[in-house]
Amino acid sequence: MCNENCPCWDKNITHPRICPICDYIFKGNGWDGIDAHYKARHEKNTGELYKDWWSRMCDEHKAKR
Ligand SMILES: [Zn+2]
Ligand SMILES: [Zn+2]
Repeated sequence: MCNENCPCWDKNITHPRICPICDYIFKGNGWDGIDAHYKARHEKNTGELYKDWWSRMCDEHKAKR
């Protein structure tokens, strides 16, 4: 189940996966490229490391699709 700690909480993100921060659409398989995308675009702004941000993602949203 999603929860309010999940970066995708309260956002209608199913398929395709969409960056919950900037609405970038991931065209590959599920979240392919999210690590590079987050590190390049968001890590400095959010001040949160990718691994920490990703670890807050709920199982439902972490899934490939
Ligand atoms: Zn979620
Ligand atoms: Zn983004």
